[in-house]
Amino acid sequence: MMVTSCLFWAMALLKIGRYYESNCFCLCISLLLTGSSAKPMEKVPLSKTLESTKIAIDTGFRHIDSAYVYPNEKEIGQAIRSKIADGVVRREDIFLTTKLWCTFHRPELVDIGLERSLKNLQLDYVDLFLIHYPMSIKPSEAMLTKDGNGKILFETVDLCATWEAMEKCKDAGLTKSIGVSNFNRRQLEMILKKPGLKYKPVCNQVECHPYLNQKKLLDFCKSRDIVLVAYGALGSQRPKAWVDQKAPFLLKDPVLCAMAKKHNRSPAQIALRYQVQRGVVALAQSYEENEMKENIQALEFQLPSEDMEVLNGLNRNFRYFPANIAAEHPNFPFSDEY
Ligand code: NAP
Repeated sequence: MMVTSCLFWAMALLKIGRYYESNCFCLCISLLLTGSSAKPMEKVPLSKTLESTKIAIDTGFRHIDSAYVYPNEKEIGQAIRSKIADGVVRREDIFLTTKLWCTFHRPELVDIGLERSLKNLQLDYVDLFLIHYPMSIKPSEAMLTKDGNGKILFETVDLCATWEAMEKCKDAGLTKSIGVSNFNRRQLEMILKKPGLKYKPVCNQVECHPYLNQKKLLDFCKSRDIVLVAYGALGSQRPKAWVDQKAPFLLKDPVLCAMAKKHNRSPAQIALRYQVQRGVVALAQSYEENEMKENIQALEFQLPSEDMEVLNGLNRNFRYFPANIAAEHPNFPFSDEY
């Protein structure tokens, strides 16, 4: 499976030297141009994305998560090309993800969506192309197409037709693998059962952390050989527009902090290690070199099974990103149990 071999590759580059066919894992640097509350969006210049991506590659990260809707594809592409030009990495050493935005779900727009990302990135292909969300928005040049009253104009697109167009992008060599994001079990099954399915989704990227451990979705994904990729694995950047500022701070959780102290690790390392040992690919966003170094060290230690059980016990099905803005959409994924 394409994503498995790529993750193996990424792991090899991180000098893990081990490969579990059913337990592939990797950490990634993912850079999104929304700051934490301490660093609001307008205060994170794009030059910082460029520099942070270069530092991440120097630190050893090889998996980079991006999306058309994050306004930083140009800088991410620039950083990757610069590290290739410097001889630090080859293109095939990098595992780059981007995502199809909701205004491009109509099948005739899918390759246009990917071509736009490739143009931003100034690259010939990405390694993984995901349907970002199952909720479709009417096409326009805006990310959120709105009517005169500021209401988002959603539409319903047959996601099986979108998927067929995604398959064509893979056949055209524009992406090595295809997958989905924010799909629930029912939506995954709809794609898996699609008549004439050529390629199944290699992964489902969803919010996942000790407060929302996604156990049932993870078990389902594993049973279908789909990799679960965790976003918000550190409790999110808490962007004001998306996250309730009263939401609990995952990295300040007393149980997580006590466990970190016991193992002489940081809470972030415990949260990432938790995912690694469950066979989940964890995204870890950071602009700070010291945090990046710390995060990559989550690959260097083991948590005993009793500690994994304690972390499982923190689950409270809590979402930092409930996406309530789209709750009325027929394809809203988070109303189902999983
Ligand atoms: P996250 O990775 O859960 O958390 C990032 C926050 O943790 C940042 O504020 C960062 O601080 C902090 N941090 C990082 N390393 C740390 C460490 N070692 N110690 C203490 N704090 C640390 O954030 P996220 O952005 O929600 O999720 C990660 C990525 O997932 C995104 O960047 C994006 O690529 C992807 N994502 C995808 C979707 C989707 O719908 N598919 C949705 C949301 C996110 P600093 O900023 O100070 O470095």
